[in-house]
Amino acid sequence: MSEQLTCPTCQRTQITTANCPNCETDLAILHLLANLSPVETGWDYQLRLIILSIISSFISGLVAAKFFL
Ligand SMILES: [Zn+2]
Repeated sequence: MSEQLTCPTCQRTQITTANCPNCETDLAILHLLANLSPVETGWDYQLRLIILSIISSFISGLVAAKFFL
């Protein structure tokens, strides 16, 4: 939790605590998001996309088979 955030409620800047010292808005989720990498481009992500597309085409194939057979 070392990122300096700007409070979305009162626009106070350079907040490093979990709550805004000015308006007490809970900023824990914003700290969490700031700690995540902005874009997932790794092999894991591509593999998940490939598996997801295979599963969804399999399911749509099953649905089509039910309708046409
Ligand atoms: Zn605030």
